[in-house]
Amino acid sequence: MPEDCIFCKILAGEIPAAKVHETENTLAFEDINPKAPVHVLVIPRKHIPTINDLAREDGALVGEMMLAAREVARLKGVDRSGYRIIFNTNREAGQEVFHIHLHVLGGHPLGPMG
Ligand code: AMP
Repeated sequence: MPEDCIFCKILAGEIPAAKVHETENTLAFEDINPKAPVHVLVIPRKHIPTINDLAREDGALVGEMMLAAREVARLKGVDRSGYRIIFNTNREAGQEVFHIHLHVLGGHPLGPMG
């Protein structure tokens, strides 16, 4: 675990987070600076800096993150109204934390992508 990774610190319990859901391999918690009424992050317990760093054997883990996001949407009550899930990768996408995370956004109309 890289010492400067804020999400590894959350996983280790060194930084608090408002947990929403967890599985053996994933953790979901409230985004500290929400961009929508529902804004939850789903992270793997394994430290992977970006989507570019995924190994072929990480496929099942990413699938588990998607299933966790689906469960988060259900728990937050946006599964029927609608939600968006996003991986930001590197600078032009605005990635700030280099431990992959799925944003789960919903609770109001989200507008076009861009
Ligand atoms: P990204 O720009 O895709 O790397 O997203 C990183 C997200 O992590 C941002 O939406 C931040 O608000 C969020 N974030 C950063 N630090 C924390 C933290 N300690 N607890 C919860 N969310 C955080």
